[in-house]
Amino acid sequence: MKVIYLDNNATTCVAPEVLEAMLPFLRDSYGNASSMHGFGGQVGKFIAEARERTAEALGCSPEEIIFTSCGTESDNTAIFSTVRSQPEKRHVVTTRVEHPAVLNVASHLEIAGYEVTHLKVDELGRLDLQELEDSLRPDTALVSIMHANNENGVIFPLERIAEIVKSRGILLHTDAVQTVGKLSIDLQKLAVDFLALSAHKVHGPKGMGALYVRRGVPFRPFMLGGHQEKGRRAGTENVAGIVALGKAMEMAATGIVEENSRVRALRDRLEQGIMAAVSDVRRNGDPENRLPNTTSLAFKYIEGESILLMLDQYGICASSGSACTSGSLEPSHVLRAMGVPFTFAHGSIRFSLSRYTTDEEIDLVLRELPGIVSRLRAMSPFTGKDDAAPGCAC
Ligand SMILES: *Cc1c(COP(=O)(O)O)cnc(C)c1O
Repeated sequence: MKVIYLDNNATTCVAPEVLEAMLPFLRDSYGNASSMHGFGGQVGKFIAEARERTAEALGCSPEEIIFTSCGTESDNTAIFSTVRSQPEKRHVVTTRVEHPAVLNVASHLEIAGYEVTHLKVDELGRLDLQELEDSLRPDTALVSIMHANNENGVIFPLERIAEIVKSRGILLHTDAVQTVGKLSIDLQKLAVDFLALSAHKVHGPKGMGALYVRRGVPFRPFMLGGHQEKGRRAGTENVAGIVALGKAMEMAATGIVEENSRVRALRDRLEQGIMAAVSDVRRNGDPENRLPNTTSLAFKYIEGESILLMLDQYGICASSGSACTSGSLEPSHVLRAMGVPFTFAHGSIRFSLSRYTTDEEIDLVLRELPGIVSRLRAMSPFTGKDDAAPGCAC
């Protein structure tokens, strides 16, 4: 059965061009860039080229890019660097809807005695910039706010956030894993100090990331060891991964505007088609400022997991809005932060499209999903019961 992959915020396929670009470094050119011999040394120029491509796609200079092993490592590196370089500052500001790669670092800092402010979001998943401004203190070491949310696609006004945070002289990190390749990013205009990205969210391979560190910003390495990455990230370079990221970034930067309007049109057709065919469905997140590829929909009275299992029978891959890794069907921290009503929160499904998504794939979802929802509602003990007590869904 053909896979209809609509879970691109979780990971993406490796673009054929990216795979081609990385293969020579897995087959023949396996040398170590640090070696004295020419066989190893020759790969250095490909690393340099990938760094230039990555920098060009972001509007920064190559020396400001550090290659890492993933988006999570980039987030960890940025946050730990800021607190270590300013030991006298003991306060960190972040949001309630960050990815665990930021939230769990913030919890770790709290245990270590830091004070952490978690900014709230409203029912559309938007931040209150006045609350941000009011939260900043003389001992604030860092503000870490994601560029766009992986679950609901809501884009935060990062330029405005940067103005507020930088006017107070505070370091600003952004997790841009979901926006790189989906929005144009120009670090000449966007005054962040750190920006994290991940290759596997932009049609590159898993296990490859990068961190932008603005020139002049104090930096403490997270990985200690050899002198790779100018001593900023030890560990023998993942040459194939680095070359792949360079290629993926170059591809993402070219044609981003046209691609996005095509993907947005497909996403809108999917969303409007579902909302027209199914009753009691609502959209999670700001319809104005959100990623062009993402829609998060909440179906009243039923479990998102059940919808996923039935979609899976048609080869359709999506994801739900629960923190199912814990084995519970608690709605995710993002849906809870938005205050999505109980009867809807459990029935949340996210579809995330890519540049490879086709019209036919959207047609198939539109053909099958309404029937799936009515079959599940016919079986649900909650159908029609709007006053179900929170926490009793499973
Ligand atoms: C996927 C993701 C990450 C983690 O990136 P990895 O490369 O998988 O470690 C971090 N933040 C956001 C917003 C993500 O979507």
